[in-house]
Amino acid sequence: MYGREQTEQLNMSNVVQFRKPTLKQRHKGKTLCRSGFHRWEIKQAKQFDVKQGRLVTLYQCTRCGETKVQAE
Ligand SMILES: [Zn+2]
Repeated sequence: MYGREQTEQLNMSNVVQFRKPTLKQRHKGKTLCRSGFHRWEIKQAKQFDVKQGRLVTLYQCTRCGETKVQAE
């Protein structure tokens, strides 16, 4: 009885992974972005920001496209 339940659960998870591997990966990425864990990539390094009066680096997330500016 116990062993049979375990087997059914394994089969269900296998089906989900087999059907939508890409969608699952995308969903995982979006979840990370929503939680604030972006995959930042330097878009423009050490650019002079007139407003702040100092050098800043522009970052963009490769998954959701969000940008942030960080002072050097
Ligand atoms: Zn992101």
